[in-house]
Amino acid sequence: MMKKRKKYSYPDKRGYFGEFGGRYVPETLMNALFELEALYARAKRDPKFHAEYISILREYAGRPTPLTYAGRLTNHYGKARIYLKREDLCHTGAHKINNVVGQMLLAKRSGKTRIIAETGAGQHGVATATVAAKFGYRCIVYMGQEDVQRQSLNVHRMKMLGAEVRTVTTGSRTLKDATSEAIRDWVTNVPDTFYVIGSVVGPHPYPMMVRDFQSIIGKETKKQFDGIPSYLVACVGGGSNAMGMFYPFIKDSVRMIGVEAAGEGLESDRHAATLSKGRPGVLHGTFSYLLQDMNGQVSLAHSISAGLDYPGVGPEHSFLKTSKRVLYAAVSDIQALRAAELLSQTEGIIPALESAHAVAYLETLMPKTRKNDSVIICLSGRGDKDMQTYMKNISKEGTRP
Ligand SMILES: *Cc1c(COP(=O)(O)O)cnc(C)c1O
Repeated sequence: MMKKRKKYSYPDKRGYFGEFGGRYVPETLMNALFELEALYARAKRDPKFHAEYISILREYAGRPTPLTYAGRLTNHYGKARIYLKREDLCHTGAHKINNVVGQMLLAKRSGKTRIIAETGAGQHGVATATVAAKFGYRCIVYMGQEDVQRQSLNVHRMKMLGAEVRTVTTGSRTLKDATSEAIRDWVTNVPDTFYVIGSVVGPHPYPMMVRDFQSIIGKETKKQFDGIPSYLVACVGGGSNAMGMFYPFIKDSVRMIGVEAAGEGLESDRHAATLSKGRPGVLHGTFSYLLQDMNGQVSLAHSISAGLDYPGVGPEHSFLKTSKRVLYAAVSDIQALRAAELLSQTEGIIPALESAHAVAYLETLMPKTRKNDSVIICLSGRGDKDMQTYMKNISKEGTRP
């Protein structure tokens, strides 16, 4: 007898995941979003589009990425078997390129060759500048002044790749303001400009599109693992690597945990735990959980990891939280640093600080697991970009596990 599958078909036609999502944009962008939705719907039905997407990911970005059994880390906890999905081995060092390749192919179909993007840590900017160079497209990346100073290596990378980096000096001078500036550019230049968004955020159809492009992570994992794991764990900034890992498993009986950044602690004002501590509101064209003050003003997020330092989160995560399909937790800066050290010394893999948040959740999860359980962690990126932070924060002797 066929096992009855639970239905999961989100977003709805208007771009909502339950009450979350939608298109909260100025009227001048509505048409552009309708066009993009139609363009994507055609591409999704076209086997040629899919073939080209897969072929670039294979030949250029290094997919499929391995699923690595973490033997020494498993022994360290002495419970469930731990596996790592190795997005750190993608070209440019993280999962972001999966989505950028998909959107760049859509840009190609739309005939628009002026590419704009927003970036915080610079990782999405680098991925976009990379793929734009490969396609021969003009690329402009908006980045807050604060981030330009903190992430100078990535600024130089983008410039070397031929992109123009526009420094944003308004507001908090971080990702939130860079995104507002990119939206303003898009409003002004819609006829020839394609906006490549870096996570499962923004107005419909972006959260759905980015999720679909990142789903390659979960699809490969499903094939490689050959069965259904007990737990999936991924870090959540905007939520794209987590959605990419979770979505192909959403109808299966696997427990999923999204890990946010608790920064200096959930009781401090310095964290980025949007789902744990925020309230629903509108930011950057979508209705979702949001860090905001009593007057509804968007609060500043804080995390030692620049890639998790965003006051919003993708609307589908808000839906998965309220519908209780996914559990959301948060780990602090210090816990993430410890986990980065542990993974480096047990497995010989230096993780990105973002990914180290997912690893840190093992401290909570592992005691509850049994030997025949299995845990898959989405290792979203590698740690080269974070070496300065690691050097500053991890003592000379370290703390060998
Ligand atoms: C950008 C980034 C993240 C956070 O983005 P999501 O959309 O939440 O995946 C996580 N890990 C790495 C390595 C990143 O570069």
